[in-house]
Amino acid sequence: MAPWISADADGPRRGITRFINCRLVTGDKIVKQDLYVSSVTGKILSSQELFFQQCYVADETVDLQDRLVAPGLIDVQLNGAFGFDFSVVPENVSDYGKTLRKVNKDLVKTGVTSYLPTLTSQKPEVYQSALPFLRPSGGPRDAEDGSESLGAHCEGPFLNPVKNGIHNTEVLISAEHGLRDIEACYGAENMQASKQHSRPGPDQQRAVTMITAAPEQGKMTQTIPDLVNRGIVYSIGHSDADYEQASSAVAKGATMITHLFNAMRPLHHRNPGIFGVLGQSERQWRPYFGIIADGIHLHPTAIKIAFDSHPDGFILVTDAMRLVGLPDGIYDWTNGDRIVKKGPHLTLEGTDKIAGSSITLIECVSNFLNWSGVGVAEALKTVTLTPARMLGLHGTKGSLDSGADADLVVLSEATDAATGHRDLHVDQVWKFGTCVHATK
Ligand SMILES: [Zn+2]
Repeated sequence: MAPWISADADGPRRGITRFINCRLVTGDKIVKQDLYVSSVTGKILSSQELFFQQCYVADETVDLQDRLVAPGLIDVQLNGAFGFDFSVVPENVSDYGKTLRKVNKDLVKTGVTSYLPTLTSQKPEVYQSALPFLRPSGGPRDAEDGSESLGAHCEGPFLNPVKNGIHNTEVLISAEHGLRDIEACYGAENMQASKQHSRPGPDQQRAVTMITAAPEQGKMTQTIPDLVNRGIVYSIGHSDADYEQASSAVAKGATMITHLFNAMRPLHHRNPGIFGVLGQSERQWRPYFGIIADGIHLHPTAIKIAFDSHPDGFILVTDAMRLVGLPDGIYDWTNGDRIVKKGPHLTLEGTDKIAGSSITLIECVSNFLNWSGVGVAEALKTVTLTPARMLGLHGTKGSLDSGADADLVVLSEATDAATGHRDLHVDQVWKFGTCVHATK
């Protein structure tokens, strides 16, 4: 047992941990309050219920010495990590699952307790091989398995070739027949939960959680309601849509914009493009949007403007690829190109074309803190409560309310005396009420 944990109860262990001397990040606020979690149910417990109705006591107490406890971080756009690219299926397909399990164990140490593994534009066979491995678990499972897939984010191949970014234009397609083409690409079985069970278990969960597609291509806009009816989030991205086309997509059910500003038309005063839909007068119609705060994809001021225009929709994402966690250098990319990695930045060799990032999500939060002037709770909300709401998982993920999954990060704050730069550091990670990583 670690030195900061003390055993409380002599009787049978119920897996209850009590955190004391901590500051809880709840929504926009920080409150000083104890927190109880159960490693048996994997959930956050209601302290009132515990003591007044069930007379339970904690098995152990963790003294956090005034550090922050936030919900576990959620990354809705992660292409790979620790050398593994979710879009590359090995010759022996079972190796995909093995490597994925290893990545999940490493990823959780960065504070990301759940995420959408993101597949870039590929041929249909790649999606159909990879997606079955990326299904959500559908509820608490072994904490030692590390970070948890909330289902896949398919970014492409229904993208506009003129806004391809680094996606290979040769595999881009257009949904000329609507849903039929989309099912043919990802596999119909990956796009809906099995109907054989009233409550789907892990094997029956829908593998695809979110799709990024250009609404102006083929019959995509008309098909958005079919996707939304299946519980799939439709995100506008890699798109040349003008304001009217983007507004139509939102009217049809698009609730997200993928990496706002990148791979889309810039804001124009006569036609504000996709960014313009954040100006809708009805706040509830404004979509959520992903922002990459790595210091190269976007100017800090653009990030600040995006936040101020719709704070409740603002979601930090890494868009990191497999090189996150690896040393600087030149690496092969899937389609024969090569990528230069320098710190958190990736560019296509011989060009200044951005090729995703290799930044961690907590680094994005620290950058955002420094650039925006918002408080720590507001910054953390963009990677916890807001993505959980976007995914329809509010109540289960992204909050410290009782009944939510006990996915937590313990954070310490530091300010560089010379530069004034503020940093958040992940000291501990708890998954389903069990400590899976601790540095202090
Ligand atoms: Zn992209």
